[in-house]
Amino acid sequence: MNILIVGSGGREHALAWKIAQSPEADQIFCAPGNAGIAEVATCVDIAADAIDELVAFAGQNRIDLTVVGPEGPLSAGITDAFEAAGLAVFGPSAAAAEIEASKTYAKGLMEKYGIPTARGRAFSDPEKARKYIRTMEEPIVVKADGLAAGKGVVICSTRKQAQDTVKQMIQDKIFGDAGKTVVIEECLTGEEASFIAFTDGTHIVPLPASQDHKRVYDGDRGSNTGGMGAYSPAPVVDAVMQQKIMDQIMRPAVRAMAAEGRPYKGVLYAGLMIDKDKIRVVEFNCRFGDPETQPLMMRLKSDIVPLLRAVVHGGLDKCRIQIDPRPAVCVVMAAGGYPGSYAKGAGISGLANVRRMKDVAAFHAGTAAKNNEIVTAGGRVLGVTALGDDIVKAISRAYKAVEKISWKNVHFRTDIGAKAKKRLSA
Ligand code: ATP
Repeated sequence: MNILIVGSGGREHALAWKIAQSPEADQIFCAPGNAGIAEVATCVDIAADAIDELVAFAGQNRIDLTVVGPEGPLSAGITDAFEAAGLAVFGPSAAAAEIEASKTYAKGLMEKYGIPTARGRAFSDPEKARKYIRTMEEPIVVKADGLAAGKGVVICSTRKQAQDTVKQMIQDKIFGDAGKTVVIEECLTGEEASFIAFTDGTHIVPLPASQDHKRVYDGDRGSNTGGMGAYSPAPVVDAVMQQKIMDQIMRPAVRAMAAEGRPYKGVLYAGLMIDKDKIRVVEFNCRFGDPETQPLMMRLKSDIVPLLRAVVHGGLDKCRIQIDPRPAVCVVMAAGGYPGSYAKGAGISGLANVRRMKDVAAFHAGTAAKNNEIVTAGGRVLGVTALGDDIVKAISRAYKAVEKISWKNVHFRTDIGAKAKKRLSA
């Protein structure tokens, strides 16, 4: 089978790495890919959102299956375009991807189908939004409706800050059209977990739960980022909780999308807030999580290609997956300054030493090859991921690998996995 992966991040490297291990995979391409992906796939210089060019490439190169990583092309209709051209593609249609691309849509869906989420409402009229804020208790969460690369959510400690944020989003348009409508909701407390599952629109095959670290600095301080590290399993999701998540969230969501005439095919990602035995959905995403996919791919023992194929062509009900019982931890190594401005082009040293380590993979996110050297080319640069017999060993192996890699102004958190360790030793 010839497979095309769309995207260029750590998520896509982890998917390419896993797909490359499949006996079913013949030629693997990635558009546009990065320097790490180039070791397991042929990188093609087409941007992830250049849908027409991607359709043409897939047609000309006899691609049997295209796997889409990021939400941008999904919500722009890449799946619809591939299907219209008679090409097999893994990922939801634009209509189904609205579950991520419009927080108003997701909120309405959850309310209509009784899926537990934060109490809140959507507004495009700033005056009505302000009135609603006056009725709410602090802190208050204000979210831009559309895609804002993880930056469109503000947790406001006061009503005044919430009012100002509404003004910035709707009137000053700081997020452009993505902030024309805002969702205002109560602030949830508890521990966050990510729950990612394959679905063909009817059947669901869940992956183990994982946890992301969104803030840039240790102790969950600083700005939100795309994710500074992740681990799986998430101890906050035990077997009972997993069942509840399936019964209260995943099955109802997949049924709801079908009932709405937007059957959901691909991976559905529920971002959850768990407070003792209570679960609420913070958000749905229409794709694999990044960085959560890195530890998940290291733990997935089964061949991923039959799963991807079953989602697209049917047979997911017969798929069983095998998971490595050992935990995996991913530490993101970023360019200093990220998520603000940062330098590119710094030479990365130590990658060869890490390649020799057992049960470790350095997934590339923002890297490029320049004059026989791998250099930084993005904010998140690498996702150094390790398996260990227990979470403590996985953390220590991941950080041993991180210590071997360096470049000028590298930044990483030193406490990835600490929450899991604390929960397990409590
Ligand atoms: P991303 O693209 O990074 O997944 P996003 O822009 O889609 O993010 P959300 O996932 O909805 O936005 O929110 C980002 C983060 O803000 C969440 O992971 C969570 O930490 C926090 N958050 C969002 N909504 C709430 C809420 N109601 N209560 C408390 N925290 C919240």
